[in-house]
Amino acid sequence: MSDQPKTYLVINAGSSSIKYGLYRADDLTPIEHKTIETKKAGGYAPAIEEILKLVKAHNVVAIGHRVVHGGKDYAAPVKVDDKVLADLEKLSPLAPLHQPHNLKTIKMIAERFPELPQVASFDTAFHRTQSKLSQMYALPRKLTEDEGIVRYGFHGLSYEYIASVLPAVAGAETAKGRVIVAHLGNGASMAALKDGKSVATTMGFTPLDGLMMGTRAGATDPGILLYLLEKGETAQSLSDIFQKQSGLKGVSGLTEDVRELLASSKPEAKEAIDLFCLYAARQAASLTVDLGGVDAIVFTGGIGENSEDIRNNILSRLSHLGVKLDPALNNADQAAIHSADSAVKVYVIKTDEELMMAQHVKKLMQPSAPAAKPDIKFAP
Ligand code: ADP
Repeated sequence: MSDQPKTYLVINAGSSSIKYGLYRADDLTPIEHKTIETKKAGGYAPAIEEILKLVKAHNVVAIGHRVVHGGKDYAAPVKVDDKVLADLEKLSPLAPLHQPHNLKTIKMIAERFPELPQVASFDTAFHRTQSKLSQMYALPRKLTEDEGIVRYGFHGLSYEYIASVLPAVAGAETAKGRVIVAHLGNGASMAALKDGKSVATTMGFTPLDGLMMGTRAGATDPGILLYLLEKGETAQSLSDIFQKQSGLKGVSGLTEDVRELLASSKPEAKEAIDLFCLYAARQAASLTVDLGGVDAIVFTGGIGENSEDIRNNILSRLSHLGVKLDPALNNADQAAIHSADSAVKVYVIKTDEELMMAQHVKKLMQPSAPAAKPDIKFAP
């Protein structure tokens, strides 16, 4: 086994699927990059078991995890030890659907392979460069400072990846400028980047804020929650409405799948798509306030990468900013899709959160990185 090249395994566990990647440790060449549907694998634990078969078979020397919440303190990926794990467990109430899942996987691997270093990469970390003002809500100071009710932002691995490749795609000058990245997938958000760093983002304290999404409502008057609570809804039923029954699925009454909605002739499908694009355009325009204008817009995520219709629909609502698409380029699978006379450059870049995580693992596995603690005993 030891004559096999060393590899890193990264695990990106979502609610219904687990993406994983296996990379050569020396140069991060991808060896395997797959998605397992947890239902098909017979549940979450069997799916992880399936992935863990790679550890021995491929000489895995470290494992990276996407962990949704790093709170206020974790502004960069870390090697996981007992202290880190205890800190991250305290953040579980902030992301009850994902954080316990992520941490359970880390603990399970620590028990099975105690010698294997594990690295946590956070969705929130990339946004910790934002000013205090950008992260604040207009709530009583006590909630901001004592309860940690601030805008954390999410999709950080995707934004970090886009920021890392943007100089090669758009040139160093544009990449240093005022850039809005639109990550449009089932979950959708935007980030405003200056000099490759996050200055504002549309998701907030939770991934429910900002854009309309597949099944999430996005920015919504909190008075609606109060009204529905008074009418007898509960925290649980409201969570179901706002997280699972809203967005494209709720408005169309059909599905959250953008491909199906674009193919449908039902007026509700068109209305859902138009509302999605109106929300996206409004949110993009609001980020121009944080940036003082905009030099480039980047589309990524399943919808952003693949749907020329959605890109066109969103950008046609931002024409007052001087954005002009080149229709031929927009339809032609190109990286740069703006017209020659557009005041704002527009790019389509495929994101790669798993490669970003592998880069984090590689960096933290260098001898100069803080020492690994492979002999640490994890709390049960
Ligand atoms: P997740 O947030 O779950 O990772 P993805 O980034 O994979 O989601 O995005 C899923 C969305 O992308 C779905 O709404 C899907 O319909 C949409 N999508 C994928 N391919 C296309 C396409 N060719 N045209 C339009 N939408 C697409």
